[in-house]
Amino acid sequence: MEKWQCQQSSKFCETLKNKNPSDLQHWQNEHSKYFTECCESKNDKDLKDYDKEVKINTKDIFEKDLENGKSSDLEKRTQWNAYYRMIIPLKSKGNAIIKMTFEMSKIEKGVTDQDIEKTKQFILSINKTWNNNFTLLVTDTQNQCCTIKLPIQFDIQFAYKGEKIPNGERNPHKIALYKNIPISPEGIDRPRLERGRTFILATDPNPYNKTYTFIHEFGHALGLPDEYGYDDYIDSILQYRKPDGSLDSTQYSAFHNGKNRPLGDPQESIMGVFNSCRITERQGWVIGIAANKVIDNKRYQCDIIFNGNNNSCSLWKK
Ligand SMILES: [Zn+2]
Repeated sequence: MEKWQCQQSSKFCETLKNKNPSDLQHWQNEHSKYFTECCESKNDKDLKDYDKEVKINTKDIFEKDLENGKSSDLEKRTQWNAYYRMIIPLKSKGNAIIKMTFEMSKIEKGVTDQDIEKTKQFILSINKTWNNNFTLLVTDTQNQCCTIKLPIQFDIQFAYKGEKIPNGERNPHKIALYKNIPISPEGIDRPRLERGRTFILATDPNPYNKTYTFIHEFGHALGLPDEYGYDDYIDSILQYRKPDGSLDSTQYSAFHNGKNRPLGDPQESIMGVFNSCRITERQGWVIGIAANKVIDNKRYQCDIIFNGNNNSCSLWKK
């Protein structure tokens, strides 16, 4: 016989035997406010701390096709893999942490130490913006009373090319830092993320070269799409996948030719509107998809709780 041990004193373990659904409901309501609540077996081999680097292709994160049902060549060409290391302390409890190292892989001549420092500070705004918006909810399907809630935090580190990667990834992100933004083969003259891993950034006074853009490009590093379309004439329809991989029924219109929604639009978000600081629930689902890959055990189902948008617009609206 296994012995179940409660993390916090709870009546549920006593009522587990009589399987009264209203008791279960009552217990779940009572304890939903806790950081973690779980009846755990000490000898449970699956209940451990998980730590893995994941690779997720954007086709497993969202679908984006032209409104006329055709797929856009440009969207297809810009599919990418998102890489990050994720720590899920299912046993020891605490924050679930997404770890990314930014390796300075190319620094153009003339870029100063102060420029580099300023770029690092811009990038560290990612923590302030993306932290505290989401909680990872892990349900143990073999033990119904067990749901574990782990707040999601980001850990961003830096390295110069050739140095040890502080966050230990095999596929660190790269920064190519220029004085002026080099134009991409597609003619894009703004800071951007290339092939899902290389941030093309610059120190020039380009209006796009500000905190907003760094935060937005980081969203792409997580695997999130632009919520505007790339076709010159036809709008795109965007659908996100939920943590279990199923396609969400909501279809977002992504306007053609990169046209942004106005600030204040109900569908405004950081991935679709210049200078928006609004992170939405759908933008957390990718973390749930990643968490399911990290744990990789059908017994545990990862979902995302949206805590509301806790970031501060004042970050870049000074
Ligand atoms: Zn973008």
